[in-house]
Amino acid sequence: MSRVLILGGTAEARELAAALVADGLEVTSSLAGRVAQALPSEGEVRIGGFGGPDALTWWLAEHGMTAVVDATHPFAHRISAAAATACRARALPLTRLERPGWKEAPGDRWHRVADLAEAAATVERLGRRVLLTTGRQDIGAFAAVSDAWFLIRAISLPDPPLPIDHEILLDRGPYTCEAELELLDRHRIDLLVTKDSGGDSTAPKLQAARERGTAVVMVTRPTGPDVPTVASVAEVVERIRALPSED
Ligand code: NAP
Repeated sequence: MSRVLILGGTAEARELAAALVADGLEVTSSLAGRVAQALPSEGEVRIGGFGGPDALTWWLAEHGMTAVVDATHPFAHRISAAAATACRARALPLTRLERPGWKEAPGDRWHRVADLAEAAATVERLGRRVLLTTGRQDIGAFAAVSDAWFLIRAISLPDPPLPIDHEILLDRGPYTCEAELELLDRHRIDLLVTKDSGGDSTAPKLQAARERGTAVVMVTRPTGPDVPTVASVAEVVERIRALPSED
């Protein structure tokens, strides 16, 4: 019987767990445990870090895993690196499921930056009323920006330090363009800051920014390890089906 570990924390990971369970496989989804109320997932779920690549290697052996899918968020680069190291050590097949990045469209005013530090420097230059959607763990990079007001939108309360002048909006996608337009207007937002997470559920903020001519600071994805990568759940299912059977 094949046993698949899905490194999750994304909508795609939950979708994949459901598809592999429906295919009759034993599936364990792993979550970092950052969000207080994780959305439910099919199959088994374990929560918390493994303790680094060596500990993950040990865990894979201990639990008799036969394949691993790294379906973590495009910016979760540490766990992706650990998965590559551990799968190499155990000679296990590893597939990366990664949603494509967002594409610029006519009318967009994007400023692509390499990292959060460059994003903060760009906010200093361009923004006075900023919608900050980089995720609760990444707000500290903007703490020293004193000339701007921030509307910080996150799923759960952000970790300090926070910028002095801010308001917190706890919310979780999917969002609609209509609601995003209303948000931009209500708060007189002149700059949107986002990571290039990709996906449909949070893309309406980009459409709204396009319609309002609002500038966007887009943080580029980190480079991940060199592993076979696909963009859809169906492609992962096909790859797992094609693996030699363990029984
Ligand atoms: P990260 O920097 O790559 O990981 C930091 C540490 O958290 C890892 O070294 C590992 O701890 C643990 N970890 C991360 N993902 C894990 C998982 N799926 N299962 C078990 N342990 C995990 O990741 P991050 O950026 O903090 O993101 C944490 C989780 O949130 C990820 O699962 C990701 O899919 C999800 N997420 C992240 C973002 C984002 O913007 N970064 C957005 C949405 C969702 P050990 O070293 O102890 O094993």
